[in-house]
Amino acid sequence: MLKLALSRILRSARNSMSAVENLGDLLHRNCPNCETDNSDRTALRYSWQEWQLRECGACGFVYLENPPDYADFKVAFAWEKNHGDRKVRMRKEYPLAYGISKAWRKFYRWAVRKPDKLTNRIKRWVPPGLVVDVGCGNADRLLSLPAQYETSGIEISKALAEEAGALLATRGGSITNLPAVEGLATYETETASGVLMRSFLEHEHKPVELLSHAARVLKPGGVAIIKVPNISSINRRVMGSRWCGFRFPGHVNYFTPKSLRAMVADAGLAIVGFGFFDRFPFSDNMWMVARKDG
Ligand SMILES: [Zn+2]
Repeated sequence: MLKLALSRILRSARNSMSAVENLGDLLHRNCPNCETDNSDRTALRYSWQEWQLRECGACGFVYLENPPDYADFKVAFAWEKNHGDRKVRMRKEYPLAYGISKAWRKFYRWAVRKPDKLTNRIKRWVPPGLVVDVGCGNADRLLSLPAQYETSGIEISKALAEEAGALLATRGGSITNLPAVEGLATYETETASGVLMRSFLEHEHKPVELLSHAARVLKPGGVAIIKVPNISSINRRVMGSRWCGFRFPGHVNYFTPKSLRAMVADAGLAIVGFGFFDRFPFSDNMWMVARKDG
């Protein structure tokens, strides 16, 4: 038992080491919202190790200035590894908070059967037709869609894209193994009823470009469904650096309700579902439904 636990700890430590060694060249990003270069500003105190978080001097948007390059990201920072790295960090730096939070989540899952927020929104808002899941992972979301939807996904990780392709073969549907912007650019204009970006925009180096492609690809009446962490949530204010939304270097954009609303509206989508409970201050995340009118 002890031996097994030890080998597990060693393995996760080795995984996190190899991820760090594979960083390659880091990029420099200007503000993804307004293109201002903020490199002369002091990094936010939530920055960690070499990862520099900046708050844009012009528009206030918070972002990671120096993420790894896509080429390395594709191999070394597929989200499942990134998630593992956060666990390693939390366990090492905040063992008590990590233990309490783990126990709480376990209890919460046991005590509360949470409604499926994505499926509820799809049923309410997305007209029948093609649904594109951006960052589809192993296609688990697409597989659970009702039959009136055609399925299609974009996934940067080669391993996940292969798994998704195999699983999706049973109900028909295609997987594109590309970064999100390049992947969505391959879709014809006004062909989709829904574009899903669940836990995705926070990872996207070019969120403005991605949203404008989503607006282009949607048919009039089609909707984008977005879920992102809310950096102005109460939990973030209480937890500070320990907040679960800070993930380095995976999360590169940090939205507030205001900045999300502005970026989506600028892309030409009308915000139709973003009520108080969609951006509930006690929740770490927020949900938005935005429609293409016309
Ligand atoms: Zn800006």
